[in-house]
Amino acid sequence: MAHFTCDVAIIGGGVTGVAAGLAAARSGARAILIEPRPFVGGNATTGLCLHNFVTRYGRQVVFGIAQEIVDELIAMGGAVGHIPYQGFTSAVTPVDGNFFRIKVTEMLARAGVQVIYGATVVGLKREGDRIASLTVAAKGGLHTLEAKNVVDASGDGDIAAMAGVPFRKGDGPAGRMQPISMILHFHNVDTRRIAEEIGEVAPAMAVRPEGGEPIPVYFNGSFSKWNDLVIEQGIFPNRDRHVFFNTVWPDQVNVNTSAVLDLDGTDPVQLSRATVELTEQCRRIGDFLRAHVPGFENGYLVPAAIPGVRETRNIHGRYEIQDDDVIEGRKFDDSIGQVCFPIDIHAPESSQAVFIQIGGDGAFDIPYRAMLPVDLDNLVVAGRCVSATHIAHGATRNMAPCLVMGEAAGTAAAISAKRNTSPANLDVRDLQRRLVENGAFLGDSFGGSHAKRAVAV
Ligand SMILES: Cc1cc2nc3c(=O)[nH]c(=O)nc-3n(C[C@H](O)[C@H](O)[C@H](O)COP(=O)(O)OP(=O)(O)OC[C@H]3O[C@@H](n4cnc5c(N)ncnc54)[C@H](O)[C@@H]3O)c2cc1C
Repeated sequence: MAHFTCDVAIIGGGVTGVAAGLAAARSGARAILIEPRPFVGGNATTGLCLHNFVTRYGRQVVFGIAQEIVDELIAMGGAVGHIPYQGFTSAVTPVDGNFFRIKVTEMLARAGVQVIYGATVVGLKREGDRIASLTVAAKGGLHTLEAKNVVDASGDGDIAAMAGVPFRKGDGPAGRMQPISMILHFHNVDTRRIAEEIGEVAPAMAVRPEGGEPIPVYFNGSFSKWNDLVIEQGIFPNRDRHVFFNTVWPDQVNVNTSAVLDLDGTDPVQLSRATVELTEQCRRIGDFLRAHVPGFENGYLVPAAIPGVRETRNIHGRYEIQDDDVIEGRKFDDSIGQVCFPIDIHAPESSQAVFIQIGGDGAFDIPYRAMLPVDLDNLVVAGRCVSATHIAHGATRNMAPCLVMGEAAGTAAAISAKRNTSPANLDVRDLQRRLVENGAFLGDSFGGSHAKRAVAV
């Protein structure tokens, strides 16, 4: 069986792992990224908007690798930039999921990250306060991976949990987690017509990079008009069902509305049940849309390749991001990046979305300590599973925060590997300096040369 060694092992190739891999390799580390699926990019490959770069007051606070990916996507025709919207958020960043996958695959290769696909970490050896090695199940059997430092970008906090780090799942003692959903892609639809029928407010409109007329790229609403039909035919379990649409094309759209409740994405049997139920929901919802919603008549449906898991474990870090940290837009001395998407919770009991806006100037800081597990020194936990309450996780789980955390985690793991120390023993000011030099925005007091871009909202 193979024995891999590296400076930084990144476990998981969702948006967090992609940013962590790029940051680690560009910081001079030998980086290996382990991903079970045959592609990187995670949920971004299902074509969702990268929420959010711009505060509700129109100030861009997310830069760094996240912005670089958007710029690269615009250059290849797979994104349209940050577009004002008058709904629950004041700007949106839609991207094409397949272009995202192609671009980040290429960026990781260019940066020199060794990505091992079809590989899952299934165990590890812990020695005191460090992870000594990881066991990877992949073609050929069980392999060993030794790294100086490890980034847990598994979304589920698998590595932290295997190492015995305490965690919380979902909300309160009942531990109910946000629902699992599967995105429906539709080709050959009339997006203007759909936006007229369903849009709660005017759609976000954008011009594609090659020019032409503005097209609707984001809108949300509900199926209230069809309540009787929806209940009679059992399309959704509830009335006034919420739905979210996004696209960067005039004749394609991604539809986010399916859901299964009370299934645990860390349990293989429950996740498989979710996959079966959601694939069936995609067909049923697709038939309903084609039959009843103007604009979908000639639509061709492709269900997303993966079920999307919103919430599982949040690890217990040296700091837990609190509800009020987000609600009041708090800032921290050990900030590794500012983020700004509102708290976005699809209620565990109904899957209806609830948004809570960020107070203060509309942005809050991610403190470095929230990515450091309580009693382990050479592991950084970033992305969906970062240390945060159920409510705070409603904001941190979105993709711009995940990209910000991934960049910081990969940089921290690489700098500390080079210095033969661990992320827990790294002086956060060294990390902050490096992140700012690389173009990240940590807050006004940390400086930086990036343009403080404004988006007219
Ligand atoms: C239906 C849905 C809609 C959403 N809509 C939006 C939206 O519009 N905008 C937005 O910004 N965010 C949205 N989100 C949230 C956002 O997409 C995710 O929270 C975010 O992508 C999480 O990224 P991640 O990299 O931290 O985790 P994940 O995307 O979960 O990636 C984790 C990766 O780790 C791999 N992995 C897992 N376990 C192991 C292991 N043991 N060994 C090796 N690899 C492993 C997985 O295969 C996966 O590729 C949505 C989420 C869902 C589910």
